[in-house]
Amino acid sequence: MTLAPLRLKKDEDRRLRAGHLWVFSNEVDVDSTPLTAFEPGQPVEIQDHRGTALGSGYVNPYSLICARLVSRDPALALNKSLLAHRFNVALSLRERLFDKPYYRLAFGDSDGLPGLVVDRFGDVLVAQITTAGMERCKDDIIAALQQVLKPAAIVLRNDSASRAVEGLESYVETAFGTMPETVELEENGVRFAAPLLTGQKTGWFYDHRMNRARMQHYVQGKRVLDVFSYIGGWGVQAAAAGANEALCVDSSEAALQHVHHNAALNGVAEHVKTLQGNAFEALKSLRAEREKFDVVILDPPAFIKRKKDLRAGLEAYQRINQQAMQVLAKDGILISCSCSFHLSRAELSNAMLTASRHIDRNLQILEQGHQGPDHPVHPAIPETDYLKAFNARVLPRI
Ligand code: SAH
Repeated sequence: MTLAPLRLKKDEDRRLRAGHLWVFSNEVDVDSTPLTAFEPGQPVEIQDHRGTALGSGYVNPYSLICARLVSRDPALALNKSLLAHRFNVALSLRERLFDKPYYRLAFGDSDGLPGLVVDRFGDVLVAQITTAGMERCKDDIIAALQQVLKPAAIVLRNDSASRAVEGLESYVETAFGTMPETVELEENGVRFAAPLLTGQKTGWFYDHRMNRARMQHYVQGKRVLDVFSYIGGWGVQAAAAGANEALCVDSSEAALQHVHHNAALNGVAEHVKTLQGNAFEALKSLRAEREKFDVVILDPPAFIKRKKDLRAGLEAYQRINQQAMQVLAKDGILISCSCSFHLSRAELSNAMLTASRHIDRNLQILEQGHQGPDHPVHPAIPETDYLKAFNARVLPRI
């Protein structure tokens, strides 16, 4: 099959040659290969300004990231066989890392699958497509996943906000098999039932696995507050690790119902409580009631989704961290996380520092966490390195 060429301007091949996979629309030589001539998702041969092939990829003329490199071999286009190969390579890493089939199986660009993530919950798979190029081979994706993993069901959670940028509609669909309302998974020896069709993102956040494992070391016999708890990933795990009480706060009543169910699944129902409400308001009330916690976990949704949200987002991170410190017992532990790519690690620790100074506390950073190895970082693509966690000790002023 010959692919239509997508020609880059002079020197605009450098980033790709250095390892990156994205082409921005201003880098294309639109005189020789006008972007308007392509359909969204169309496979192309990406070429440098002289016409030398850099590899195969796919285009979306309506997106700022107008093309993504799929293979450095221009003869390899995105089809069922290439997808199955990439899934096999991805699977071999996860099988080496984990002894149970609960993990992110495919993490987009980092696994050579730009625009696709797949989470595995035993024999149920949840895929999320975010680009027109991947959407175009939806049937091949399903077929390749069936071939490699022989799942009982595959769900497409194609309802992420980023799809709008690519001109894609939002939908959730069971592509194969039948999906139960909740599906069980295990993390760090703790069981959870996750609502894969209706929950946040793909239904579960595997990226914090290692950070939650570290959290378990701080909570024995303690009173723990899990803010933005969703279905209890941190809070239920804290109770299972011996916390005396874990109070889970979330604005979603449905999520909190799952918290109770997950607590019961692990025999810790008496140790897990829930509080429904806006986190900022809930922390204010807890403070007014003079409630104190030995460990507070802050794992909010991304407050900074786009660069332009940076200022407002920074302020929100600082405020919530300050409120968390205000309900910490003396010599308490704050586990503060951010999944906003646009908030750097240094900016988060600085927000924590500023918050601590406002209320005259002394902060020690004890540990720093990242996303787990089933979310590999692509060293050329900073966006793949997004998750931050700080375990900090909050002391009175020195
Ligand atoms: N900590 C969770 C993931 C958080 S997902 C885990 O480890 O699995 C974000 C959660 O924050 C969602 O459950 C959402 O309902 C909740 N949320 C979003 N905005 C909120 C707010 N202002 N107050 C309280 N909860 C909020």
